[in-house]
Amino acid sequence: MKILMIMKGHEYLALEILSTSLKLAGHHVELIFDPSLFDDAFISSAFLMKKFNADRAIIRKAVNYAPDYVLFTLYSNDVTWAQKRAKELKQATGAKVIVGGPHATAVPELVAEYPYFDYVMMGDGEETLPQLIESINNNRSPKTVRGTYYREDGKIIGTENHHLTQNLDIFPPDKEQFYCAAPWATKEYNLLVSRGCGYKCTYCYNNTKYALWDRQGQYLRYRSIDSVISELSAMQERNKYTLVNIWDDNLIMNRNYAHDFFDEYKKKIHIPFKIFVHPLHIDNGIAQLLSEAGCWGVEIGVQAVDECGRRLCGRKESDGDIKRAVEILKNSGLKVILDFMVGLPFQTYRDIYSMCEFVAKIKPDQSRIFLTRYFPKTELTQIAYNEGLISDYDLNEINNGTSRDSYIYNKKLNKQIDRVRSLLIVAHYFPLEFIKFMKKIRIEIWLPRFNSFFQMVMTARGFFQPYNDIARSFLKKYRYYLLGDGRKWLK
Ligand code: SF4
Repeated sequence: MKILMIMKGHEYLALEILSTSLKLAGHHVELIFDPSLFDDAFISSAFLMKKFNADRAIIRKAVNYAPDYVLFTLYSNDVTWAQKRAKELKQATGAKVIVGGPHATAVPELVAEYPYFDYVMMGDGEETLPQLIESINNNRSPKTVRGTYYREDGKIIGTENHHLTQNLDIFPPDKEQFYCAAPWATKEYNLLVSRGCGYKCTYCYNNTKYALWDRQGQYLRYRSIDSVISELSAMQERNKYTLVNIWDDNLIMNRNYAHDFFDEYKKKIHIPFKIFVHPLHIDNGIAQLLSEAGCWGVEIGVQAVDECGRRLCGRKESDGDIKRAVEILKNSGLKVILDFMVGLPFQTYRDIYSMCEFVAKIKPDQSRIFLTRYFPKTELTQIAYNEGLISDYDLNEINNGTSRDSYIYNKKLNKQIDRVRSLLIVAHYFPLEFIKFMKKIRIEIWLPRFNSFFQMVMTARGFFQPYNDIARSFLKKYRYYLLGDGRKWLK
């Protein structure tokens, strides 16, 4: 069978893993990369998005390929985009559409109602997808394929809960087609070593997925070190990449594995990398291990610094734990990026000032600020609903993937919060006393409202730092499609 995969705006490791599983089952796979210009985390403009859309190029390539199936990974932000693309591709090629991914896993019964999605997969798809295709091809009902939803006689049918893939080594990512479609992306290597997390923070996808876990096998799973190192070595031969982004939720949680992995990485790869870490797993030994292996920076999810916010997020660590972790990491020569969530239930502008003071005190190298997003079926969404912070209508939007950026932006998060955010992003440059003074004189009254332009300027500024994963890859993408060979493809 011929299967067409669609990626939007950036690399999707999940689709690359599925590509491997499809090829192992004897299928042919083709990738279309939708650059999604002016409709991404870097810049968003409805006018430019329309002008530089890839609609014609995508349809042309899809019709030439004539797929039997089209495959999407659905994140909540991408549902509207995927519905539009699925409709166009189904009409142009007659292919059946299969969707999976975090949003589909959370609300498969709703996603299966969309007329242009024929089949929905929950959870890990490496084993489900080939089985699903086989049953459709043999005119068998997919009833026996675990973790699938579909329509039959106007009814939504859901099968037994999915199970998690235990042996990740069988399915290393198939990156070849992504690099052909996105040659601008070859110098940074995106890597996934493990799957799952030992925590269940209330706002996170792990919160939903953990609740669906059938308790068979492990939730937090690791690839063998040999498999990861050989993947990295092979791609180093091909691309000569200069930076590795390790996207694992919590790789260092298993200390023994982390030691063995980074020892091997240091010996055989030793290319600068960035990694997400949890502050409760940082000590001098781990910081030294990361540093010696070539780590240039770590990103830590702080989210909230007030007691109420931290409890709402389900975070167990204290301010002291984070401060200690940041000190240890900085003493080991690593750059530290802290992530914060703005717009949590009950948050006030004073809480954002507390974040500014926290940042001014412990001095990370960068702060990243995210609007609180409510995702389907997470505990945080349920809390907000129970507390009346989101309505039935809002909940419907969240479950349908048509939610706005934030439900507090217009209703609850007042201008004060929005303005103090502007201070938060630069707070690490200032002494604590200065931030306290700003708070005293209520500087937010005079500050510009935080917006994506401000964030973009800060990100662009980061581009001139030696390594900046986000800014560098976005800028390269735009250069390729607006000034390079990608222009021809868009036409
Ligand atoms: S530690 Fe990070 S990845 Fe793990 S559940 Fe919390 S937010 Fe999610």
